[in-house]
Amino acid sequence: MSLIVQKYGGSSVADAESIKRVARRVVETKRQGNQVVVVVSAMGDTTDDLLDLAADITDHPQDREMDILLSSGERMSMALLAMAINQLGETAQSFTGSQAGMITDAIHGKARLIEVNPNRVHESLDSGHIGIVAGFQGMSRESKDITTMGRGGSDTTAVALAAAMNADVCEIYTDVDGVFTADPRVVSRARKIDVASSEDMLEMAANGSKVLHLRSVEYARRFGVKLHVRSSFSEKEGTWVIPDPEDKITIQEGEPLEQPIITGLAHATEARMTIAGIPDEPGRAAAIFNVVAEVGTNIDMIVQDVSDETKKTNISFTLPSDDGRKTLEALEAQKGAIGFEDLDFTPEVGKVSLVGGGMRHHPGVSAKFFSALRDAGINITLISTSEIRVSVITKIEDMERAVEALHTAFGLDSEEEATVYAGTGR
Ligand code: ADP
Ligand code: ASP
Ligand code: MG
Repeated sequence: MSLIVQKYGGSSVADAESIKRVARRVVETKRQGNQVVVVVSAMGDTTDDLLDLAADITDHPQDREMDILLSSGERMSMALLAMAINQLGETAQSFTGSQAGMITDAIHGKARLIEVNPNRVHESLDSGHIGIVAGFQGMSRESKDITTMGRGGSDTTAVALAAAMNADVCEIYTDVDGVFTADPRVVSRARKIDVASSEDMLEMAANGSKVLHLRSVEYARRFGVKLHVRSSFSEKEGTWVIPDPEDKITIQEGEPLEQPIITGLAHATEARMTIAGIPDEPGRAAAIFNVVAEVGTNIDMIVQDVSDETKKTNISFTLPSDDGRKTLEALEAQKGAIGFEDLDFTPEVGKVSLVGGGMRHHPGVSAKFFSALRDAGINITLISTSEIRVSVITKIEDMERAVEALHTAFGLDSEEEATVYAGTGR
């Protein structure tokens, strides 16, 4: 008997009809002779609605209360799905994250898993039930409080359960047919990828392809969990993410032996900070980034200009838009100590990344990349590269156009239009 973990995202359980549809799919999987564990997200845009509600009450919600509030979204869907499955003649039991043994550290809003002890879920399966687990939440043993794992964290709940329970596969059900060469909401000719390496998928997720939570890809790679990303609205085969690049892949006749040069494009909205007029001498960058680290901001791209004849330089970096205010305040407070002249903050810029494990062996990728942006008349403000990625920062209003232009320039456009079945893309 196989053990299958299925995760259904918010758009797949948006209303009663959708929950009933998912229940039929789960029951069918069970009746094919499998044990099934289901991880659910909150219904539709519930998490965003709860965030808006809290913002209507206060600008400074307590982290602890915020996590209790947000974790309630997943509790609603898990109970409703259990009822829908019971209605179809199978039995299901739902569990909150803490009941399912998802033990995390005590950092609210971005808690990390420390231990996963799904004993109660095992018992439930052994008694012939379908186990349902609320996504994106856990409990800290230290503080005894409910925690959440960050937006999109239900994917990580599913992969962690699949690893702990030694599942045969972890299926991530969403509102598109799999992982595409670009966000199908932006590029209608995006092409579905049949098999992606963990390495490429990590870069895609790290650079904004929210179809998989970054931490779920990391976790799947570490624990060798097979991921199948697919639509809950169709029966189509989705995208397989191969956990171990060393794993032997069976190549069908006629299939290319090498991985493609380019896997796809990812995009994200970030903020940009420019610190101008910094004395060009050792220790100034360290002073800046220590201040930034102290307030807990994760920075992304960093660029320093060559200093001018006044021996002053500028440093720019990108950061999550939500961290903008606190970072700005912290730097402003240390203006004298660091010795800079000016701060310039842009709350929204576009980050566009081209990802592909094959590009490390192929010259000319950068030339084609920058030519395509030039032809589209798009100006670039920051550039960063890795062995398998080229990223640029553009004006926010140019971001989607840049993704489309690059998708076409790299020959990724498909003959057919990609289907987006549901969801608001929020
Ligand atoms: P769920 O609610 O099921 O977790 P998400 O909204 O988190 O779904 O992720 C699915 C969405 O990810 C798609 O609707 C799509 O707009 C977006 N997306 C971004 N990049 C990609 C990509 N490369 N391939 C597929 N979807 C992508
Ligand atoms: N409901 C949470 C969110 O919207 C977690 C998830 O769906 O993965 O981010
Ligand atoms: Mg998601």
